[in-house]
Amino acid sequence: MGIPQLTLNNGVTMPQLGFGVYQTPPQQTVTAVETALSTGYRHIDTAAAYGNEREVGDAIRNSGIARDDVFIETKIWITDYGYDTTLHAFDKGAGKLGVDQIDLLILHQALPGEFALTIDAYRALEQLLADGKVRAIGVSNFMSDHLGQLLEATSIVPAVNQIEVHPYFRQSSVLAADDEHGIISQAWSPIGGITFYRDGAHGSTLEDPTINRIANSHAKTAAQVMLRWHLQQGRQVIPKSVTPSRIAENFDVFDFELSTQDLADIDALDTGTRGGPEPEQITRENFGIEIPEA
Ligand code: NAP
Repeated sequence: MGIPQLTLNNGVTMPQLGFGVYQTPPQQTVTAVETALSTGYRHIDTAAAYGNEREVGDAIRNSGIARDDVFIETKIWITDYGYDTTLHAFDKGAGKLGVDQIDLLILHQALPGEFALTIDAYRALEQLLADGKVRAIGVSNFMSDHLGQLLEATSIVPAVNQIEVHPYFRQSSVLAADDEHGIISQAWSPIGGITFYRDGAHGSTLEDPTINRIANSHAKTAAQVMLRWHLQQGRQVIPKSVTPSRIAENFDVFDFELSTQDLADIDALDTGTRGGPEPEQITRENFGIEIPEA
């Protein structure tokens, strides 16, 4: 069965299931992305800050799949915010990926203490869209008030907001804000990767008794149940793996359906505890890394 497509607010379509490469070392990225593409994934989510855009581009070319059949998403890092700097960051990213056009280009984080700079960066994305260099633009880790400030100062509503969403951290207020503005929520750490190394009652989502009970009842795995939960609630997902069997497992989620009760039971697992950095505390001083030229 083909991957369902989501239609972005400007009419561009994007597969609902994509493939993430955060923390995939460059030397493993080509193989991981080639494996994903041969499994059937057609959307790759990378970022300037992941240091593997070049290898993502290599893998796509090696696959022999037509460029137009793969949806490429990447992100601008905060040290490249500012109108001209962000325009140049497109050249860096596209140059490493080896493409003329990026399907979806997003701001990786808001800079709450320097929001004017965030807006300048977003205006550059608007220009890149007008120039046809990108097919859609969006944001990541924007909380409701960041979205509100952005929408007030700019003219193009982001197509997506990529945020942490998994059963232990649902961010329902941000999901609602995205919905209200017609923004697609992309779930990062969709199977709770960021929870795997936590101790205590809410350690790894993979070991959660409720998720495993539901998984057993459908003869599926915990990861597959979590992905299905997002898909049925309309979110886009980008699970990451370097393991071929898991890359296949995460793709095999279109032959079963969770019940309304299953979905509600998973919703009820929300702990309200974020795994990633607090968006309000992102600054160029704390999180500054230099993004090399192409
Ligand atoms: P994730 O996809 O929820 O989990 C990845 C982890 O799960 C890896 O340790 C992977 O191990 C393991 N895994 C994958 N499939 C599995 C399966 N079926 N069963 C058991 N374990 C499995 O978390 P993530 O990597 O944090 O997030 C996914 C993507 O979201 C990233 O790659 C990136 O594209 C994006 N992201 C964005 C942001 C942002 O700020 N915008 C932040 C974080 C992530 P192996 O690889 O060893 O198989």
